Amino acid sequence: MPEMKISFLGTGSGSSTRRAHTAMVYDCDDGTRLLVDTSSGNSVARNASDLGMSVADFNIVLISHHHPDHMSGLLFVQFSRFLERPEAPPLDVYLTYEALEWAQKMCAANYLNIFEVNSEWAKNSDGREVIRWHPVATDQEINLGPTTSASCFPADHISGAVGWKVESSGISVVFSGDTRYNPTLVEASKGARLLIHEALRTDEEQDYAKNRGHSTSGEAARTAAEAGVAELILTHLDSNYHDNPTPLLDDAKKHYSGPTSAATDLYQVIVSS
Ligand SMILES: [Zn+2]
Ligand SMILES: [Zn+2]
Repeated sequence: MPEMKISFLGTGSGSSTRRAHTAMVYDCDDGTRLLVDTSSGNSVARNASDLGMSVADFNIVLISHHHPDHMSGLLFVQFSRFLERPEAPPLDVYLTYEALEWAQKMCAANYLNIFEVNSEWAKNSDGREVIRWHPVATDQEINLGPTTSASCFPADHISGAVGWKVESSGISVVFSGDTRYNPTLVEASKGARLLIHEALRTDEEQDYAKNRGHSTSGEAARTAAEAGVAELILTHLDSNYHDNPTPLLDDAKKHYSGPTSAATDLYQVIVSS
């Protein structure tokens, strides 16, 4: 039976002081490995290493949006990858056109090892192409491996923000990205094997979450229930719930009866079709 292994490298919200920022690895049944968001700093390299993975083996990156807790780690990912594997083909980065504009600015501001950047690639000081950009439109189907494809859909967070749906060997996994509750996400998640959803706060703190462009755990669960997904994992948690996510899970249970858990850094889960 086909399987997909998901490794959570970072599960903290932007303001979390207890966890690495958002990043996940999907190891698909056809051998395709996807890095979904890149955390900040060197968290991807550090936490991947703790799980026995090398950043040198990351070739494909999906970005949800250009906030620094999701995208700024890209600089370190490509930097570490180049050090470990200088002859590697460029890192393929998929992101929206708007996120790409910000990614170019980020690279241009960082003349450490990225020397030249445009809307197609980023080159280092040796003139070697280290990143190849793949700007995507929402709902555009992208083939990433023999049986793996992905598409993004608009999130209700900041302009250009998206969630990602990955389908591989009959297994469908949806990542909400950062978002308020929205019907587009419900539609995109219909029939998914797994929904990985951000959950900043409890339902009692709905205004706090909404004002910051985020969801409560109850809203994440409502999306899971309305979409009929088989499993829900909460991520992007605030420091308040680092030690004890029970209040988030209790709210989720009020809306969704399927298996629900709260991810932690280095948490790994295997899903099958
Ligand atoms: Zn975030
Ligand atoms: Zn954000």
